[in-house]
Amino acid sequence: MTPTLAMIVFLIGAVIWFVIRIPARRRARKAAVKLSGRGLREKVLMAISLTGLGIIPLAYIASQFQSARFRFLGFADYPFVPALAWLGVLVFAASLWLFYLTHKALGRNWSVSLDIRESHKLITGGVYALVRHPMYSAFWLWAIAQALLLPNWVAGLAGIVGFGTLFFSRVGEEERLMCDAFGDEYRAYMRRTSRVLPGLY
Ligand code: SAH
Repeated sequence: MTPTLAMIVFLIGAVIWFVIRIPARRRARKAAVKLSGRGLREKVLMAISLTGLGIIPLAYIASQFQSARFRFLGFADYPFVPALAWLGVLVFAASLWLFYLTHKALGRNWSVSLDIRESHKLITGGVYALVRHPMYSAFWLWAIAQALLLPNWVAGLAGIVGFGTLFFSRVGEEERLMCDAFGDEYRAYMRRTSRVLPGLY
């Protein structure tokens, strides 16, 4: 494993993630929204998350192919450890697999933000039986993989900071929205599941 290979793994992972989302985006466009938690706050949170998980690492990777003078965040580089990067490959693969499963399970109930659709169904099966926010578990795995793959304190940890900001600001709001829409059914689901880590959190 080399730093270049680790960066290529990150790029391939990002492309696979994008492809997994294509059918979900298409399906979601067709299903009308009846209740939404979208607003300025949500937009800002999504921008912060996208910056941390995507823009900063991609800018960092792009600049690695420039001469040393132009390397973005060069001051925060640390020595590359192949074993950590290998672990990053495994974690990234697990993240993408979980992304695939969550999109498959959510179907037309998926949203990039917080939306309750006409004929929205509460999903509690498949990976949604293990935790109630498995897609956020997948994003956490992405953020951890990013830290393991990119030997740079800022580009590596930007995902944890960026997605962490979105996660902790959104998850309570999302659960309130789901309680408004599904009442006791969602409250019972909350009692029997953890948020992102089975049995722990
Ligand atoms: N937090 C979930 C879903 C993220 S997508 C996860 O991490 O897997 C966000 C959209 O999914 C929101 O519009 C929300 O209303 C919807 N949603 C969240 N949990 C759901 C569930 N169990 N069943 C159906 N829709 C759900």
